[in-house]
Amino acid sequence: MIYDVVIIGTGMGGLTAGALLAKRGLKVLLLEKGSQPGGYVVSFRKEGFTFDATGVFVGGCEPGGEFEALLREVDVHLEFKKINTIRNIYPGFEIALRSGGFNHYIERLKAIFPEEKRGIERYERTISRIGAEVKALSGITWYEKALFPLLFRNLVRFSPTTHEAILNSLFKGNEIKMALSSLPVTVPPSQLSFLFVATLLNKVISEGAYYPRGGMGVISKALAGSIERRGGGIRYRTEAARILTRGNKVTGVVTTEGEVIEAPTVISNVSLPQTFQRLLSGGPPSSLARRLNRFEYSLSNFIVYLGVRGDAELNSLPFFTYLRSISDLEEEYRMLRKGEIPENPTLIMVVPSLIDPSLAPEGTHAVKLLSIAPYGYRNEWNKTDRRSYQAVKEEVAQRLITHVESRLIPGLKRKILFHGAATPVTLERYTGNEQGAMYGLATTPRQFGRHRPPNRTSIKGLYLAGHYTRPAHGIVGAATSGSFTARTILSKRNG
Ligand SMILES: Cc1cc2nc3c(=O)[nH]c(=O)nc-3n(C[C@H](O)[C@H](O)[C@H](O)COP(=O)(O)OP(=O)(O)OC[C@H]3O[C@@H](n4cnc5c(N)ncnc54)[C@H](O)[C@@H]3O)c2cc1C
Repeated sequence: MIYDVVIIGTGMGGLTAGALLAKRGLKVLLLEKGSQPGGYVVSFRKEGFTFDATGVFVGGCEPGGEFEALLREVDVHLEFKKINTIRNIYPGFEIALRSGGFNHYIERLKAIFPEEKRGIERYERTISRIGAEVKALSGITWYEKALFPLLFRNLVRFSPTTHEAILNSLFKGNEIKMALSSLPVTVPPSQLSFLFVATLLNKVISEGAYYPRGGMGVISKALAGSIERRGGGIRYRTEAARILTRGNKVTGVVTTEGEVIEAPTVISNVSLPQTFQRLLSGGPPSSLARRLNRFEYSLSNFIVYLGVRGDAELNSLPFFTYLRSISDLEEEYRMLRKGEIPENPTLIMVVPSLIDPSLAPEGTHAVKLLSIAPYGYRNEWNKTDRRSYQAVKEEVAQRLITHVESRLIPGLKRKILFHGAATPVTLERYTGNEQGAMYGLATTPRQFGRHRPPNRTSIKGLYLAGHYTRPAHGIVGAATSGSFTARTILSKRNG
């Protein structure tokens, strides 16, 4: 059978592209090396508990929101619960919310830092001006494209700007700068694209963050279901080994089993190095070859999964706690890039069973701790020797548990029924993201907006989807990349 489109990988990007193309009647086939759809967005069960392998929340799920609209387009209707209880703890101060969303967070900042009120208001205004331009971008005509620098002044102006430059220009104190830097990124303010921050705050988390009933994995399963209902195929435990080309044109994919699957269009939902250096016969196009080695990839993560006996204290925890003990974000990043993990690393604790009790047996809670981590820690986690690897993994897990016990949940260790952990090596093994890069390509000014690799490549019929391409990382970012890719393919077919 010849397919219209073969998609390599069932991450958010691949699934979204597949669901949109299948809905328009194209014959699509997705190849997934793992045993379930979703890439990073999967859940697993252990001793009656449901844990999400990686993510903690998703934005844009309010009616008409970015993600809700995408899901609705492919007839996926899920129940999302709003995350309202949030506690961000910084050295010397904290911000607790009972109603989530960027706007509520900003109001709290104004109350805590009245002397910074003018700066906060200017920050808000700049963010919303950029948001309006990003929104207008989706329906842009060729005429408006020609007038881009005039019509999209803020996008042009802030394209090279880092978040640090904006924070320094608007605020005096370091505390408020820190409070505005607890974002889902792995690079520090000096390297973070301000346009990305503005887009994220405007389009994704302005109305708050959400959690899907049943766990993160239901999102991927629902998208896979949408593809299959429309006749699309998904083959699990099937790994792509080569993307075939003739001249400068894609002709199909070969699996590691040697099966040749013909298709004039291939979407790669895997990393840039894998796509261009390993899968593509003939190697990367010259325009990309040099850039490939110079890209900055995001750091990885270390995750601890805890089954915990519940009690009044556990029941009164917020859904989301951000705990930062180090004030110097730049120094913390330098340590991580050197392959070190700080003694008291910044971490996130989430308790999804507080808003979805079906995730843990009665009287217990599913707790997850996450901390940004380097792949290079202790000689790449001693990954070549199973016992040493387990020992390093356990040492870091205990470090995070002890940190949480001393700062957030006294007596935690006595309440733990079991624990498990995932290292950057685990993330790499399951998803093929090199070095367990949690967000794919880092969102620096040089790798965001028009500087990020486009969804269409210079090889005819080869497209990209996922967190290494436009627009960005994250569940919504990767899903949106899938929609960009699908729409480009459809518009080309339609003339
Ligand atoms: C610890 C952690 C926490 C996170 N928290 C959040 C969060 O709270 N909210 C949020 O929005 N985002 C979060 N993210 C980021 C988000 O999950 C990712 O940016 C996004 O899901 C990436 O999607 P993707 O489409 O790029 O595909 P990926 O998830 O990278 O999936 C790629 C897929 O391709 C498959 N594959 C690889 N190679 C092959 C091959 N040769 N043949 C066939 N299949 C192949 C893999 O098995 C995998 O299924 C988090 C990420 C991590 C790691």
